[in-house]
Amino acid sequence: MTDVPYEEWRARAAGLVPHTGHHVDGEFTGTGSTPVSSPRDGKTIAHIASAGRSEVDAAVAAARRAFDTGPWPRLAPAERKAALLRWAGLIERDRSTIALLISLEMGKPISEALGIELRAVINCIRWYAEAADKQLDESPRTGGSSLALVTREPVGVVAAVVPWNFPLTMAAWKIAPALAAGCTAVLKPAEESPLSALHLAALSAEAGLPPGVFNVVNGPGEVAGRALGEHPSVDVLAFTGSTEVGRHFLRYAADSNLKRVWLELGGKSPNIILPDAPDLDAAADTAAWGIFFNAGEMCTAPSRLLVHRSIASRVVDRVVARAEALRTGDPLDPSTEMGPLVSLPHHARVMSHIQAAKSDGARLRTGATVDGRHIAPTVFDQVKPGMRIARDEVFGPVLAVLEFDGVDEAITLANDTDYGLAAAVWTSDLSTAHRVSRSLRAGTVWVNCYEEGDMSVPFGGVKQSGHGRDKSLHALDKYTDLKTTWIEL
Ligand code: NAP
Ligand code: MG
Repeated sequence: MTDVPYEEWRARAAGLVPHTGHHVDGEFTGTGSTPVSSPRDGKTIAHIASAGRSEVDAAVAAARRAFDTGPWPRLAPAERKAALLRWAGLIERDRSTIALLISLEMGKPISEALGIELRAVINCIRWYAEAADKQLDESPRTGGSSLALVTREPVGVVAAVVPWNFPLTMAAWKIAPALAAGCTAVLKPAEESPLSALHLAALSAEAGLPPGVFNVVNGPGEVAGRALGEHPSVDVLAFTGSTEVGRHFLRYAADSNLKRVWLELGGKSPNIILPDAPDLDAAADTAAWGIFFNAGEMCTAPSRLLVHRSIASRVVDRVVARAEALRTGDPLDPSTEMGPLVSLPHHARVMSHIQAAKSDGARLRTGATVDGRHIAPTVFDQVKPGMRIARDEVFGPVLAVLEFDGVDEAITLANDTDYGLAAAVWTSDLSTAHRVSRSLRAGTVWVNCYEEGDMSVPFGGVKQSGHGRDKSLHALDKYTDLKTTWIEL
C-alpha cells in the first residue's frame, strides 16, 4: 500500500509539526496544553488546546453565524460542490502527512491509514460533493387552485462527536453530507486522535470554505462533548461511539433543546459459517481478517464466530493459524499488519475481557499475551451464549467461537445480543442466504463476505447499535428538514 520505507516514515514523524489549537471561524485559537501521546511508544507527540464551555460556545457561535447570515447555505449547490471538491483535492495532496498523523495518534498501521482510511475520507467528501447539486425537490399534484412545494432545507448547525478508531472516516461520514446539504458544523474528535482532524480543518480553510462552516474543538468528552450535546444552538448532534455515551446524548438533548440525535454505536456482530459455505478456507480467512483488522478496534468486527459443529475444528484451526501468522509491530513499519491498542486504559480494558473469558470457562486457543502495547491476536472457543465474552463488546483483537447444530439455532444465537450493527452468513444455498439474512436483526448483513461496502449503500445499526444511517443519499435526510410551502393560485 505504500512504497515509502520504514526509515522514511520515522524521519517524517520526527519532523512533523501538527496543528494544536481549536479551529474556529477559519482560524486556529487557543494554546496547546494537553499532551497527546502516541500508542507506538507512549511518547508525547503534541500538546493541544482543550475546550471548556466558553470555547465550545465560541465554535457553535461561529457555526451559527455562518449558517444564519453567511454565504454557505445560500450558495448554489454547484458552488458548495466545487468548494468540497477543492477540499478533497487538498486532502489528497496531503494524504501522506494525514496518514502519518493518524498512525502516530491512534496506532493504525501506516499502510492501512494511507490505503484504507485516507482513501475512504477523500472518496466520501467527493461523493457528497457530487451529490450536492443532484438533489431534486417535490411538487405533489394537489390539484385545484393550489401549488404545493416540498423542499429540503438544511437543518442548521450540526455537531459531530466521533471516536478514535477511524478518526477521519467517522468524521467525514457526518461532516461531508452535512456540509453538502448546506449546514455548518462543529466537530469534536476523540481525545486520542485530534491531530488528523485539525489538519483537515486547516485544509478546509485553504480550500476556501467560508469561516465558521467547519469548526473543530478538542477536549474531554465529559466537557466538550457534553457542552455540544447540551448546546441550545446546535440543531443536530451526530455521534459515533459507545452505546453508553450514546445514552448520554439522548439525555443531553432531552434536557436542552430537543435537538435531533443520530447514533452509531457499538456491536457484537455474529459471523455464521454453514457447512455449505462456497469456500470454507475463504470463510475462515475472512473471519480472522475481520476480527484482527485495526486490532479489533472496529464497531463492525465479527467478534462472534458462529460455526456449524461439523466443520468447527477445521475452520477454527485455520483461524488460529491466521492469528498466529499476523505481523504485529510498529505502526510506522509498512509491513505491520496489526498495531498496538490505542491507549493503556483501553489495553487494560481488553485484557479484563480476556480475563473474564478465562474465568467464565472459555478455552483459550491462541493469543492473550502482551507485548508492550500490543495484545496478540486472541481466539477463544467453547464459548457459551451466557459468557461475558459472548455478550460484551471488547473492541480488541479477541474472537469468541460458538458452535451450533442447525440453522434455526444459529439465527437464535446470532440475535441473542443487545446489539444489531452487522452480521454475516456463509452458505451456497440461495434460499438459506435469504432466509437467514431476513431473520438477522442487523443494519447490514453480508453474504459470503465481510466489511464490503460502497459510498452508495447506507451504514448503521438497529437495537442498541443505534439508528440513522451514514453514507448513501439517505444520510442527507439526517441533515435536512422537509419544508412544505402551500400556495393558493
Ligand atoms: P466513546 O467513549 O463513546 O467516545 C466517543 C466520543 O464521545 C469521543 O469523542 C469522546 O470524547 C466522546 N465522549 C465520551 N464521553 C462523553 C460524554 N460523557 N459526553 C459527551 N461526549 C463524550 O467511544 P470510543 O472509546 O471513542 O470508541 C469506541 C466505541 O465506539 C465502541 O463502542 C465502538 O463500537 C463505537 N464505534 C461505533 C461505530 C459505528 O459506526 N457504529 C464506529 C466506530 C466506533 P473523549 O475522546 O474525550 O473521551
Ligand atoms: Mg474516550
